[in-house]
Amino acid sequence: MTELSEQEMRAAITARDRTCDGRFFYGVITTGVFCRPSCATRPARAENLRFFLDAESALAAGFRPCKRCRPAEPAPGLSKLIEVARYIETHAEERLTLNKLAKQADLSPSRFQRVFKAAFGVSPKAYQDSVRMKRCKLALKEGDNVTGAIYSAGYGSVSRVYGEQLRSIGMTPRAYRSSGAGETIAYICRDTALGSMMIGATERGVCFVQFGEDANILFEQLRAEFPKARLNVSSAQDAPELDTWIEALDAHISQGAPRPDLPLDLRGTAFQIKVWRFLLSVRDGDVISYGEVAAGIEKPKAVRAVASACAANRIGVLVPCHRVLRGNGSIGGYRWGLARKRALLDAERSRKADSL
Ligand SMILES: [Zn+2]
Repeated sequence: MTELSEQEMRAAITARDRTCDGRFFYGVITTGVFCRPSCATRPARAENLRFFLDAESALAAGFRPCKRCRPAEPAPGLSKLIEVARYIETHAEERLTLNKLAKQADLSPSRFQRVFKAAFGVSPKAYQDSVRMKRCKLALKEGDNVTGAIYSAGYGSVSRVYGEQLRSIGMTPRAYRSSGAGETIAYICRDTALGSMMIGATERGVCFVQFGEDANILFEQLRAEFPKARLNVSSAQDAPELDTWIEALDAHISQGAPRPDLPLDLRGTAFQIKVWRFLLSVRDGDVISYGEVAAGIEKPKAVRAVASACAANRIGVLVPCHRVLRGNGSIGGYRWGLARKRALLDAERSRKADSL
């Protein structure tokens, strides 16, 4: 890696650029303290900064390590953090303290908390919760009774799982378990400009639009979402509308025809449905941030819950979760891959430009 110029180092400090951590350190002569480029402390006056390529040189020059960014502790590599994340996954049923996890990464608890969050987007605690949540979901699908599933997933009490946690699943365990039970879902698959696409519909409307490598994988996804439903491949006499719908949706995706306005069967929590309905109001060619969606449904603080609801969308394109970007304008995530999100947004942007 080439050395950074002084100008680049100053820019990195102004931007608190995490990617420059470990590449250099800076000391502030007025305080006698030295920091990593990403440190959150108030930046000092430009003429008071001194630059060092390693922490040892800063220490040798008489600077003390900052208590906040702890520049004298080794910066953990991503592989170390992934190791800890795997450990959380295999020990999700245990009570894992921040101290214990931090020790594995050779970091102080507060610093471990910060770098873990920077690497994975969630705190170690939230990560553990989501692992257990996934297990609980799986156990429920395999037919455990609700209480058994909750205990085998490591939740201490039934009330806890019925509380805040469960909203991320979308339904209460009892409702989830019967997901699709007694219902028939007709499905159809075809190749589009975005790869294989499968549409599934109940008698109320479209409940599934997903993209993937091939029809078998998509069928597995449909089966996983609605394990108890009877799945019927669409034949013209059973579900003639599906043929028309997939034709229209493919024409939209592959040839830029208008987005068809199909009946939807939205299934989720009241909150998720509120988010998905709101997304239906975002116009073709427009984009919106997670924060704006949260404000739009009058839950301005629920930005992360909005992001989870977008990620949980089962009806791609028709519920246009691809139009939601991060607050800083970066593209954010997409359940069916960023390449597809970009392709959809590019097509919509150019259609909008054409129509102006
Ligand atoms: Zn600092």
